[in-house]
Amino acid sequence: MTTKKHACPTYPHFLHGADYNPEQWIHDKSIWDKDMELMQLANCNEMTVGIFSWAKLEPQEGQFDFSFLDEIIDRVGKNGGKVILSTPSGARPHWLADKYPEVLRVGPDGVREHFRERHNHCFTSPVYREKVQIINRKLAERYGQNPTVVAWHISNEYSGDCRCPLCQQAFRDFLRKKYDNDINKLNLAYWTTFWSKTFDSFDQIEPPGKYTETGLHGLNLDWRRFVTAQTMSFIENETAPIRELSPHLPVTINMMFEFYDLNYHEVSKVIDIASWDSYPEWHNGDDADIAQKTAFWHDLYRSLKKRPFLLMESTPSLVNWKPYNKPKRPGLDVLSSIQAVAHGSDSVQYFQWRKSRGSSEKFHGAVVGHDGTGETRVFRSVQKTGEVLKAIDQIAGTVTDAKAAVIFDWENMWALDNCQGYALAGKKYWETCYAFHKVFWQRGIDCDIVSPKADLSGYQIVAAPMLYLTDEETVENLTSFVENGGTLCGTYMLGTVDGTDLCWLGGIPAGKLKDVFGITAEEIDTLYPVERQHAQLFGKEHELVDYCEVIHPSSAQVLASYTDGYYAGTPAVTINSYGKGQAVYIACRDTGSMKDDLFDHLLGNIGLAGNLADSSLPHGVTAHSRTNGETSYLFLENYDPASTADVTLKQPMTDLLTGETVHHVTLPPYSFRIFKS
Ligand SMILES: [Zn+2]
Repeated sequence: MTTKKHACPTYPHFLHGADYNPEQWIHDKSIWDKDMELMQLANCNEMTVGIFSWAKLEPQEGQFDFSFLDEIIDRVGKNGGKVILSTPSGARPHWLADKYPEVLRVGPDGVREHFRERHNHCFTSPVYREKVQIINRKLAERYGQNPTVVAWHISNEYSGDCRCPLCQQAFRDFLRKKYDNDINKLNLAYWTTFWSKTFDSFDQIEPPGKYTETGLHGLNLDWRRFVTAQTMSFIENETAPIRELSPHLPVTINMMFEFYDLNYHEVSKVIDIASWDSYPEWHNGDDADIAQKTAFWHDLYRSLKKRPFLLMESTPSLVNWKPYNKPKRPGLDVLSSIQAVAHGSDSVQYFQWRKSRGSSEKFHGAVVGHDGTGETRVFRSVQKTGEVLKAIDQIAGTVTDAKAAVIFDWENMWALDNCQGYALAGKKYWETCYAFHKVFWQRGIDCDIVSPKADLSGYQIVAAPMLYLTDEETVENLTSFVENGGTLCGTYMLGTVDGTDLCWLGGIPAGKLKDVFGITAEEIDTLYPVERQHAQLFGKEHELVDYCEVIHPSSAQVLASYTDGYYAGTPAVTINSYGKGQAVYIACRDTGSMKDDLFDHLLGNIGLAGNLADSSLPHGVTAHSRTNGETSYLFLENYDPASTADVTLKQPMTDLLTGETVHHVTLPPYSFRIFKS
């Protein structure tokens, strides 16, 4: 029995396309003719349209003109393509901001923005919500049953917050509900007795901002939670007419890299498909490291819905908004697209199809440049990617069966940023999560990135780096994972504060976790940037940076000990049997080698092997798998720009692109192979 979970069940194939803004060329339809011709030549089968089209679709309040969209959807359909149709709320028309200023955002300094840029609308404003619903209803009525349309792309890159009076009131209502309308409950949760900050009523509460309270950590955390909840409510408002009129079409929003503002673990609950915009800084340092960080985010977006995701945007060459903008080198252009597929994407999509002639993104990479031809290196690499996707179409909808996971949590990140302790600037939470993900990536082991509240029962091993904020539900979840046979790796700072950012009393890690890990943590030494300490693991000394926590084992067995500092001779890494599983505590931050030796030991013990015969892969090489339950597909990738790598498969496999059956594989720089077994 084979199982497939297509990201877009309405089109069970790989999507290969781009953000397409034909309204920018409405004055010259010969460009539209050329676009259709080039789309076929580029092996593209999808266009995402309508993202910033509101001013064209509703040029004045209540006056609608869908003629350009009618024609474009018709043209793409007749050209053999599909359309992902966007709602236009990411940028409002001028008349809307002029007539209803409440739709514009108020910033942290209390000043309301003027009509400018995009993404600056209030998520609470009833007028904005109403106007968005009206245009979305019109779109759903007109195109919701159009066979060319395969999915909805809601707004664009939701982000930011607003502190207008409407949002402030909504925030207070959110807090009233959360704290049972009991201000004393909130006061205790925020520890407001400190510096005499006690609130007499919910009406006194303001969002943290430039001139308002920022020292109450619970308040800061609740503000971020409110912003996530209010954005979700806005998305639900947007999608209501769409779900009513086209219930068969899946809904997605395009999410982002290292994104701070919203808790995507929560936001993903109101959409059907996870999709994201991937813009790594290739060639800025070691491409293997950049590939691994990008893989972390591909893995995260796949894990959000536990099914294939969509790569909604990527540049076919360069971007224009980073300090230095470098085109992707030959080879890496196609490899970086296939990387998304290796990690579970059912699409490769670009921003943008055709380079705009003016304004902010006129030098952003595009499939079609200002020359307007298919004669460029970039265009040819897109053609090549399209050929590969056609050849491997059987992989679309297959899933990733990861047995390893890393916990990454937005709320924990926000709490760590609030925290006035440890090293004040830069706790390096993302970097630390990347370092644990790297352990699996460089061994060719598929890895999910999950919330601390996720169902962990399918994993053999879970790493929970720097899980400083650990609420009661998380304590229960981690405990039950170990009780039922899992291997859990926690680190320094685990279980320090609860869900309202109050320190756990009675010693850390919180509550039962002391028994799970068989240790208590007493104090933490924060190292200066140039300072190094060391620990000895399995007879070998390893370098430590940033944090060394002093811990005391109760039932845990010591695996590594510090070799210097006032804590020399005390445990640095421990392991504890608990229930049917084991819990490993890593009390310090190492520079990589200690983690490598530790995980070789742990992975060997639990019998979790990677996708290749050898667990030690050459630099820059990784391997990922997808499966339909019967057939397995293996992606081999080499991100080293200079070295050819030789690797051995677990058994002879058939190359999907060449048809040859091989056991030993030679991978040139920036190359990939895709196998089937
Ligand atoms: Zn507002």
